Amino acid sequence: MKALVLDELIWPDLNAVLPEIKAAVIPAGSCEQHGPNTTFNTDTARAYSFSKMIGERFGKQLLICPPLSYGISVHHMSFPGTITLRCETYIHMLIDIAVALGKHGIKRIIYLNGHGGNTGSLNVVINTLKYEYGIDAYYSGIGLNVFEEGITKEMGWTKRHGHASESETSQAMALCPEVVREDRKQGEIVEEFIVRGKDSPFRYGGCAWDWKTDASANGALGDARLANLEDGIRLNQIALNKVEKMIRYIIEKR
Ligand SMILES: [Zn+2]
Repeated sequence: MKALVLDELIWPDLNAVLPEIKAAVIPAGSCEQHGPNTTFNTDTARAYSFSKMIGERFGKQLLICPPLSYGISVHHMSFPGTITLRCETYIHMLIDIAVALGKHGIKRIIYLNGHGGNTGSLNVVINTLKYEYGIDAYYSGIGLNVFEEGITKEMGWTKRHGHASESETSQAMALCPEVVREDRKQGEIVEEFIVRGKDSPFRYGGCAWDWKTDASANGALGDARLANLEDGIRLNQIALNKVEKMIRYIIEKR
């Protein structure tokens, strides 16, 4: 099916299909350093491309909105070029977009999030929309947290992969290859990532941390040299199937 993408429509065409739309998808990205090997728009491009692929599975039932190119990236501000919003600004943006869509009769919103730093705000937003505005709202990750644990082991990845690593770079190769600098792929094998994981002293709470001093000096985790298109396509299919399942549940059962 052809995805219904707001950026590609004119209003009379949208107006004609409005009654068929069951939910709007808002891709959430970031403008954030992604190591020496992937560009600042990596999360935004991944989220938008992924959302359009999801849109192909639902046709006119899902309106794919333009992506948010800025998010919460305070912990990456040690790297030049990173632009973060304040949580308050971000929350207001996400709510404003949902309220505007609600005025056109679309009262169900699904944020597809390409950036882990956005999740705290997304939790605030979906609850505010439901309990203060009567708008049904949901969000889902699209990357690492959606992939199968077993698959991760099978692919022989480094222990501390994640941001700009082999897992994210592989998925980017499948979704938006233009963000990957093939000639700049390199490894930053981080054994100690003390702010995360089951050995972290902050495991049952949190701490405000800085990527450069608490995670990795070159901005990436893991070893992007292990990234490849074949793994990326496989991982992305897993994520697409899981997110499709969630959206089917939302539009059929909620
Ligand atoms: Zn990312």
